Amino acid sequence: MNEEQVFALEDSLLAATYQKFPVALVRGRGATVWDIRGKEYTDCVGGYGVALVGHCHPRVVRAVSTQVRKLITCHGSFYNEARAEFLKRLSSIAPSRLQGIFLSNSGAEAVECALKVAIKHTGRKEVVAMSGSFHGKTWGALSLTHGIKYRQSYQDLLIKTRFANFGDTPNARNLVTGETAAIFVEPVQGEGGINAAPPGFLAELRELADKTGCLLVFDEIQSGLGRTGRMWAAQHWAVEPDILCVAKGLAGGLPMGATLARKEVMAAFKPGDHSSSFGGNPLVCAAASGTLEALVGDGLVERAAKNGDFFLEGLQRLREKHRVIREVRGLGLMIGVELRIDVRSVLNRGLERGLLLLYCGRTVLRFLPPLVISRAQIRAVLSTLDQVFEDEERARAVQKV
Ligand SMILES: *Cc1c(COP(=O)(O)O)cnc(C)c1O
Repeated sequence: MNEEQVFALEDSLLAATYQKFPVALVRGRGATVWDIRGKEYTDCVGGYGVALVGHCHPRVVRAVSTQVRKLITCHGSFYNEARAEFLKRLSSIAPSRLQGIFLSNSGAEAVECALKVAIKHTGRKEVVAMSGSFHGKTWGALSLTHGIKYRQSYQDLLIKTRFANFGDTPNARNLVTGETAAIFVEPVQGEGGINAAPPGFLAELRELADKTGCLLVFDEIQSGLGRTGRMWAAQHWAVEPDILCVAKGLAGGLPMGATLARKEVMAAFKPGDHSSSFGGNPLVCAAASGTLEALVGDGLVERAAKNGDFFLEGLQRLREKHRVIREVRGLGLMIGVELRIDVRSVLNRGLERGLLLLYCGRTVLRFLPPLVISRAQIRAVLSTLDQVFEDEERARAVQKV
């Protein structure tokens, strides 16, 4: 198949739910991907953070190749060694109090599970989430997702959610009542524009949850697993939740979600209360074991911290040089660059120059590169961005004349 045929088939048959870039990817290795024409790109999108340990990480490839010949599917009603092995690894990196685990297949599912178990455990029916939040697009997760463009057609049919201003503790205190089952928060908001919780906010939510008897849920689907330079972003503020949602890069690119809770919280679920045909299947568990082995064994978390600082410093220098950049912010390799202009033309200029770039909203460039990205690659990305912004400013200057 050639590029035109791929474009034509996807455009005619797939639901038009994605904003498409005119690139057909065929191969990936680490932080590099190639399209169907053979053009090479440095990947700063990382599948929206899914390619956490890099594309086709050798440990993941090896684990999957071995498991795929042994056993692919094994329902949760039977035991399996690959699953047990993965659970051992996950529990060893999990916050120490969170040793009850449910395995599913996506971020949204991890959030659905958190919602159900929080409601069942507390016997309460309302939830509090944050302005600018993103928790997924299935029914329950959508209820917690703030963006009106995602909600508007379903508004009246969603679970009752009150949205507190992210970072505003007095506002959260006003919204949490005796009917609140849980407070959902991303320690570093992803889709919302790469916004880290302000100092004290998570600790104050922790206190609020304890005082009112509701559960504190951290959605670390994007910020977790080393992305911010710590295993869990919430460690930057030394706060532990009652429930933690994990997904995206967890299985090295294969679909997996996990909901981790305090044992007594997860104990609200009795046999039959929640399930998934695919959740925790041996193939994905093997991939996830390979991923965690890479994350820990290759020191990718520390690497994300160091390379993240290096990347941030480089971007700050670009901000001093280019007026189109308003602000640079982030933690580790979860970085946002807020522009004074619409991001779209920057994304397209990046593509032309062999750089896959991601956005959130209309004005923020978002960087979620694989944690294996090298210094040399980051240097190259910075120099390409320098050229992209220069082109952008030149084009704007010409328009003004
Ligand atoms: C991506 C994401 C989700 C949803 O995950 P899916 O696997 O796309 O359903 C939920 N929360 C956060 C913070 C995310 O980044």
